[in-house]
Amino acid sequence: MERIFLSSPHMSDEGYEQEYVQEAFDTNWIAPLGKNVDGFEEELAEMVGIDHATALSSGTAAIHLALKAVGVGEGDIVFCQSLTFSATANPIVYEGAKPVFIDSEPGNWNMDPKLLEEAFEKYTPKAVLIVHLYGLSAKIDEIKAICEKHNVPLIEDAAESLGTIYKDQWTGAFGDYGIFSFNGNKIITTSGGGMLVSNNEEGIQKAKFWATQAREPERHYQHEEIGYNYRMSNIVAGIGRGQLKVLEDRVQQKRHIFNTYKKGLADIEEISFIDEMEDERANFWLSTLLIDSDEVTPTMIMDALKEENIESRPVWKPMHIQPVFSKYDSVGGEVSEEYFEKGICLPSDTKMTDEDLERVVQIIRGIF
Ligand SMILES: *Cc1c(COP(=O)(O)O)cnc(C)c1O
Repeated sequence: MERIFLSSPHMSDEGYEQEYVQEAFDTNWIAPLGKNVDGFEEELAEMVGIDHATALSSGTAAIHLALKAVGVGEGDIVFCQSLTFSATANPIVYEGAKPVFIDSEPGNWNMDPKLLEEAFEKYTPKAVLIVHLYGLSAKIDEIKAICEKHNVPLIEDAAESLGTIYKDQWTGAFGDYGIFSFNGNKIITTSGGGMLVSNNEEGIQKAKFWATQAREPERHYQHEEIGYNYRMSNIVAGIGRGQLKVLEDRVQQKRHIFNTYKKGLADIEEISFIDEMEDERANFWLSTLLIDSDEVTPTMIMDALKEENIESRPVWKPMHIQPVFSKYDSVGGEVSEEYFEKGICLPSDTKMTDEDLERVVQIIRGIF
């Protein structure tokens, strides 16, 4: 049987990506600037409903520059969602700051607003960094209100949630800064890349400056700050412009995948899904289930799928129990630990057919 992937790159049938890339070749704009970079920034910002964007080499770079833009530096505290990919937390440490990890809420993958309030009783952070895990929105309105009350900037790691809409607003557009990733397995991809977005024009200008080695506007090469080589290339941005045209199709297919799994496994009592909230249109980047059983473990299901050449993956291991981060404080932790123990990310590749989905459902049903 042909391999079924967790989430693989899916270029448009129309070949939009190649048209933009070809144009870059034809005009010899094979550079980390040019029409595709400008176009990708403008088109994404417009779609997300935000004023400014800068295209970068990765989502991780975008998180790094967002932290710098809100002034995070040596010794500062940053409240960070524990249940996430390590790329969320690493840039905090790049800046010599200290993460304090905050647990998820029962029934939601993301940061628990109550625990966030609790953390504010103990620490005065320089920033709050939340995630919209697996394409499901955090309770971002509540979290934003808490941040505003304490006058602390909010950064949204929306790497997994491009296209997710909560209360009529796109995730990534709620906070002071938002970031997206276009890594190979994200809902749209440029092979690798990221975007930093904000309504703060000055902040985005500053991020562009840091991303191009912090070169001062002098004829000679003048440097007064440490910079980075973080800009996206004009070739890569061409892929991104093409991919944006099919984002809505990808969201619809991801939603279809989630609903097919949910329906196909609805009668198995031990299986549950964390669904989108009321007033949410999730992108369901990865369909993820939870198993509550003494007999069936996530490993058994992942092994059974692997046997059939089907890729699946455990839920992210929370940051507060990662050896590299365990020396930092955390608030709560049991909820994300339980998700880690009981969760499986099912294959959610937008190229999967309904027959593929049915096969996955039957393999899982066969174990119970
Ligand atoms: C993928 C991902 C990132 C990092 O994005 P890159 O483009 O791979 O650097 C950050 N946070 C989360 C939650 C992600 O899933």
